[in-house]
Amino acid sequence: MNLNQKAKALNLGCCPCCQKVNEMTERKQRCSRCHHQFSQRKPYSLQYTFAWTLAAIVMFIPANIYPMMVFYTLGRPEKSTILEGIASFIQQGHYPIAFIIFLASFIIPLGKIIGLLILLYNTKSYSRISKKKQTQMYHLIASLGPWSMLDVFVVAVMAAVVNFGFFTSIEAGAGITYFTLMVIFTIFAAESFDPRLLWDIERRNTNDR
Ligand SMILES: [Zn+2]
Repeated sequence: MNLNQKAKALNLGCCPCCQKVNEMTERKQRCSRCHHQFSQRKPYSLQYTFAWTLAAIVMFIPANIYPMMVFYTLGRPEKSTILEGIASFIQQGHYPIAFIIFLASFIIPLGKIIGLLILLYNTKSYSRISKKKQTQMYHLIASLGPWSMLDVFVVAVMAAVVNFGFFTSIEAGAGITYFTLMVIFTIFAAESFDPRLLWDIERRNTNDR
């Protein structure tokens, strides 16, 4: 048996519930061990991934335009967006905090969206990046998902902790809703993606593993 032969070519499918390899007799069938219904590949994976990624891009814009937090000092509101918040931390000399917020709330979400678009493109056209690297990239995107919620968590904690009534208080701004939706949409996009589609593209380079 040729070890490079793919399970799809042999008409085999892996049950996502118990991982048993079944012989596929229908497009959608029940696993012979756990009776979970599954398909050889996630149905409409690319369409769902693209739709969720697009929704995340749409949410990314208001998430950065609207304020994430509203500070009240002596009753006077001061609104701050993600980038304004980072800029004020830099001005105050809190470089590590500015770096963490920049990473968690700007670079990682943007990187995830770009990464998902690259993966979607690579399922349709042959890429020079090895399949293994692409799969690692997918797993990185999928595992980073919940970490972007760090920012939402910080705002929620700040709003609860920093509350001295009239003198100083913090409220969550409209931006946090869009930001949360964007994070959730990228998690859905990563979950909808089937990384096996990356391997279905015909191999031209024999060293590609
Ligand atoms: Zn099963």
